[in-house]
Amino acid sequence: MKRKTFLKLFSLSPFAFSMDTLNSLSNLSDSFSATDKMPVVFIGHGSPMNAIEENQFVKGFRDVVKTIPKPNAILCVSAHWFTRGTKITISKQPETIHDFGGFPRALYEVQYPAPGSPELAKETQKLLTPELAELDEKWGLDHGAWSVLRHMYPDADVPVIQLSIDYTKPASYHFELAKRLSELRNKGVLIVGSGNIIHNLRMVDFSNFNRVDYGYDWAVEVREKVNNYLLDGNYQPLLNYDQQGTAFRYAIPTPDHYLPLIYTLGLQEKGEQISLFNDKLMAGSLSMTSVKIS
Ligand code: ZN
Repeated sequence: MKRKTFLKLFSLSPFAFSMDTLNSLSNLSDSFSATDKMPVVFIGHGSPMNAIEENQFVKGFRDVVKTIPKPNAILCVSAHWFTRGTKITISKQPETIHDFGGFPRALYEVQYPAPGSPELAKETQKLLTPELAELDEKWGLDHGAWSVLRHMYPDADVPVIQLSIDYTKPASYHFELAKRLSELRNKGVLIVGSGNIIHNLRMVDFSNFNRVDYGYDWAVEVREKVNNYLLDGNYQPLLNYDQQGTAFRYAIPTPDHYLPLIYTLGLQEKGEQISLFNDKLMAGSLSMTSVKIS
């Protein structure tokens, strides 16, 4: 008998009062069995064109996957879902959202047909309590998610949900909120932050777009400082990024691309190591620096 049919029958029986118990017992137990603790990653996603290009960065996305057990599901915190309040995607088959303008047609034709996971969405909502997170049917996968996931899991065979970033809250809030998701790591869920630590689109130097590891002086300075804070586990200045002076103000003019990193850091547990990859500047005012915690 299929589980759904069983549950339906069960709810009609005189024992229906225990449905809650049954639900909580079956939470994630079918598809999300206990696993070794999954790593957590922050991916610098860069230009949407990375979705369809072959370069050192997308190779970095693929290489990190080789060091990670195949996940049961993915929870992605993308820079491109920035909302009032926290939301969680719950659709069974999330749409591939082409949330950008002015790119070649080939990019708009990309589909990333990974299934969603309403089960994981509800579990995530529960874990975030008492914070209220709204289950959202409308949002699918934005390019912060699919432009990197299509390199990491090209078969689109791992269910993906997205968690939005509440733009009304400071970095310290997101750092603490992330900790509530920690249990998912023991259930084979790979938590992926997707953004860019240094991300100043207004200052992008298009004449030097493909020059490797080229950054303005302030970008060079911020990369070095941030990397040292990361490797030293000194997260206070990273949480107070808006009080670190002029270079940081240029590097992080708005927090959308930076905060996914903070989710990743919030999930680090005692004794876990941090490693950097794709640690390159580009176009003067962007960094591709990515982080793995395991
Ligand atoms: Zn972006």
